[in-house]
Amino acid sequence: MSGRHRQHPSRVVGAPARMALTATAAAMAVQPLMAQGAAAATVVPKPARTLPKAVDVVPTYQDQRSCDPAPKPGVEAYARMVLTTYRQGRSGGIVRGCGIGATSEHKEGRAFDWMVSSTKPAEKAAAIAFTQWLTGKDANGVIGGNARRLGVMYVIYNRRMWSTYRIGDGWRAYSGPNTHADHVHTSFTWDGAEGRTSWWDGSSTTNDDRGPCRVYSGQPAPVYTGVRRTTACPSSLPAAPKSSYGIVWPGQVGSAVKVAQRKLGLNADGVFGNGTRSTLMGWQRTRKVPVTGVLDKPTWAKLVPATGTPTPPTPTPPTPAPLPPLPASAATTTTLTPYKKVVLRAGSRGAAVTALQRALGVTADGVFGNNTLTWVKRFQTGARLPASGVVDAATWTAVERAAYPLLGYRKTVLRSGSRGTAVVALQKALKVVADGAFGPKTAAALRAAQTRAKLPATGVTDVRTWITLEQAAYPLGRSIVPAPGTATPGTPTKPPAPTKPPTSADALATTTSVSAYKKVVLKQGSRGTAVKALQRALGLADVDGAFGPQTASTVRAFQKVKHLPVTGVVDRRTWDAVELVAHPLLPYRRTVLRQGSRGTAVKVLQRALHITVDGAFGPQTAAAVKAAQRKGSIAATGTVATLTWVTVERQAYPLGRKRW
Ligand SMILES: [Zn+2]
Repeated sequence: MSGRHRQHPSRVVGAPARMALTATAAAMAVQPLMAQGAAAATVVPKPARTLPKAVDVVPTYQDQRSCDPAPKPGVEAYARMVLTTYRQGRSGGIVRGCGIGATSEHKEGRAFDWMVSSTKPAEKAAAIAFTQWLTGKDANGVIGGNARRLGVMYVIYNRRMWSTYRIGDGWRAYSGPNTHADHVHTSFTWDGAEGRTSWWDGSSTTNDDRGPCRVYSGQPAPVYTGVRRTTACPSSLPAAPKSSYGIVWPGQVGSAVKVAQRKLGLNADGVFGNGTRSTLMGWQRTRKVPVTGVLDKPTWAKLVPATGTPTPPTPTPPTPAPLPPLPASAATTTTLTPYKKVVLRAGSRGAAVTALQRALGVTADGVFGNNTLTWVKRFQTGARLPASGVVDAATWTAVERAAYPLLGYRKTVLRSGSRGTAVVALQKALKVVADGAFGPKTAAALRAAQTRAKLPATGVTDVRTWITLEQAAYPLGRSIVPAPGTATPGTPTKPPAPTKPPTSADALATTTSVSAYKKVVLKQGSRGTAVKALQRALGLADVDGAFGPQTASTVRAFQKVKHLPVTGVVDRRTWDAVELVAHPLLPYRRTVLRQGSRGTAVKVLQRALHITVDGAFGPQTAAAVKAAQRKGSIAATGTVATLTWVTVERQAYPLGRKRW
């Protein structure tokens, strides 16, 4: 199901281990086939037309960058071909909602899941026969020739992965969160997805379509238009226009969707469906913003322009029409309430399954299949419940609590002066500093949120306010299943953000752009501000807050350079190393230097000031320090203490550059 894959696991296993894995894969390819008899082994896919001699070009890696959940013709043809050739397993689908889970070509209709269980011998034999045909030698002895002709980018099955962009590495260990033991995942290049490779149209590609490029950093790329582009995307992008609205993906629901629908002249039902998406794309085309089909920052900035005054202190608030009273049950009702007495298990179907799937953030097709079973078990493990895969009362309650994190507070009335954990929950939902004290900033943020939702801006929480805040901060359909070992299940990793400059000198000496996140373990599939901080600190081109394959491979490369265990997982040791790279003067912040000082710290300072590095703090160094202090708008004393170190660092080593 998942496109979450490790790009460079060979760095983890090393060359001898890799050879052993390849040997194991080869042995496994033979054994089940012999058990099946010779007939099964001779079944291979047949091309629709005569193949040209030349094999298609070895493609580049083309990661998912846009939101375009429509199946592409080459992928549909491939799915039909696999299912009719082998007559085993079933289709696990092509598309996935863009708001669900990590980077995945499923979100561009460029991937197919063939459900074939590694525990069912006939299915496993078919999977192995096919993947060997795909990745082994073709009729002319070209390794991976069939995969190249089909425009396959990579394939994952049962803890192993193979890719055309790294053919020399063969099959290698795959250690993503989903083991792919129950399905073969195939991702396609853009040419393969469009059916433009030799298998499909009889002419071999000599270069590859790299797909759409992002226009703004951290924002989705425009929807693919079919126009081939054979050059790489730009590596540095402008920052996106600012908006207080976050990115909302097709398939998501909530009050922000209603706001957009009203602006687009649509019926405001709060559901970002296909109709809303196509109207939005028309609007984006005429308003000359990237046609992404996503409510992204450039769109929000034009759709709901900032009013000039950041916090509108509306002196005479327009009195909205009185809202009808809510039924008492509203304080406890969710989309799951009607189903909590129903026990669901593999094979169940219907509205209860759909409700469960939406709450879990998986594809909501109303069928409790292997995919849903996997996610239910994973959720149960994360929630410390028995991983039975059966959705009983305890599981329903836990799912509800995770999907509706503010449910328990709906009857809690908070106002200026309130304190405690409910205030922390409120502040997190409002995305203000979560200190548990309801002060003026919390009140202002709450009133602004109430105004956005067309509720009376009372600055006091009631049931309706809690529900509205919950929908905005934790929209249904996001994944609530934790990646194993991830600190914050479901909700984006968002520890108290370092929004205010630290006040005490002690905090100034230790606070960096990543210090708030160093207790959070990040891995592929993680999302949120911690991931953004990591990406910025490592100098990645795309600071999008989504820990996808690019980020994972960068982390592994970084770990290798820093002689850390090459895991792709950002643990405390990796964070420490990342922090030092992004903030190279951090170790010196408590060192005070002035004219006459000598030694390593002076050399470090001189290097940062781009002056002669002699380790002796003389008049030239003092002058350069004063210049830097003036440039940073701090007192030009010529003496270097914490604030000056921070200021010099910002000038000499700006964030967002790769420095390792
Ligand atoms: Zn998949």
